[in-house]
Amino acid sequence: MRTLTSLWIGLGLAAGASAAGAQPATVVRCGRLIDGRADEASAAVDVQVAGGRIAAVRKGVAAPPGARVIDLAGATCLPGFMDLHAHILINPGDVLADSMRKSSARKALEGLRNAQVRLQNGFTTLRDPGDEDLYYSPIEVRDAIARGDFEGPRLFVAPHMISSTGGHGDFNDLAADLALQVPNVVVDGPDAMRKAVREEIKHGADWIKLAATGGVMSAADDPRAQSFTDEEFRAAVDEAHRQGRKVTVHAIGAGGLKAALRAGVDGIEHGALIDDEAIAMMKERNVPLVPTIYVLDYIIEEGERRGIPADRIAKAKSLQAERDRCLRAAFASGVTIAFGSDTIFPHETANREFARMVRLGLSPMAAIRTATINAARVLGIDKDLGTVEAGKRADIVAVPGDPLADVTALESVSFVMKDGRVVKPGADSRR
Ligand SMILES: [Zn+2]
Repeated sequence: MRTLTSLWIGLGLAAGASAAGAQPATVVRCGRLIDGRADEASAAVDVQVAGGRIAAVRKGVAAPPGARVIDLAGATCLPGFMDLHAHILINPGDVLADSMRKSSARKALEGLRNAQVRLQNGFTTLRDPGDEDLYYSPIEVRDAIARGDFEGPRLFVAPHMISSTGGHGDFNDLAADLALQVPNVVVDGPDAMRKAVREEIKHGADWIKLAATGGVMSAADDPRAQSFTDEEFRAAVDEAHRQGRKVTVHAIGAGGLKAALRAGVDGIEHGALIDDEAIAMMKERNVPLVPTIYVLDYIIEEGERRGIPADRIAKAKSLQAERDRCLRAAFASGVTIAFGSDTIFPHETANREFARMVRLGLSPMAAIRTATINAARVLGIDKDLGTVEAGKRADIVAVPGDPLADVTALESVSFVMKDGRVVKPGADSRR
């Protein structure tokens, strides 16, 4: 029901909002502002918005005549959140057969709905790091939102997670005598890797995603084992960089993670078993880590109830304690951390990642930065987004109370503005 409601809100707003430019000036009166830059929150700050951008941020902004005033006196305003690991096509409880039964068109519709759910929960920007569609529905969702056809978060897309035969993105629990086109990209050898990267870019990829090691939610692969040869990694990075795209990799074990780093990849997803040498390499090369903590906990906490196969739950359990130690070390090291959820769970619960980061050692302010300025830098959009500052695009969210005192406040987003348009009105909004 919640999902449906969000969809209708999103669609309803899209009709009026797509006539861009004709927005009245708006003043958002924030009880507290975390601007994404300062180390402290500031009290009672007004944000003036005009033409989709932030015109002024200071105490006591006078509302221009005819301006809309949004009173968020009891709330904390923050920059719009960004999630760098949002699988918009995946629905909780989906099993292999679901993915094989749905056409690309249906996946696009579900992806749009899920993206809109994320927007209603404060995420104005998402990166989809590979999704389960042989075709390119996340690209279509990205472009439909960018055109203004539908309300939704801005999207950056790696269409597929490119995998080796039997690797994390191969559907490796099927019978050997079942010849089947899996809804994913599976390649072996540097030439095939180059072709796959070229195909991704041809069809609109913003990012390239590889499975550098085995994973948890797949059957026949070992999360600790390296999936591609050094030569295959180098081919992918060379091809992507030559065409101006960045590469990020799914990596659990430290061996495959470091092989990918040596080949020159630009980002690490999960990093569950990261070691000190890998951390040092990432700091030296300024490669960000997207840790995706909640997803592993979810598989353990709710997997049985949600129909996740027992062997996947066992894999998750075998990693959790070591994962906690490794990520604590990474967080303490000062390596750049950017927010990622890995939504194989209900999309409206992705905000739980903030509290899981705090549990493993980040301060609430540092956790907020992972989803704002840090993520904006990884995406290369920090000139325009990631902080609440004059001149930037007006992506502003609000939560009740003080998230620095109780980080779970970030799970209850009450107000969302994207590009200066209110897409979720706070309870106190008035004209
Ligand atoms: Zn993922």
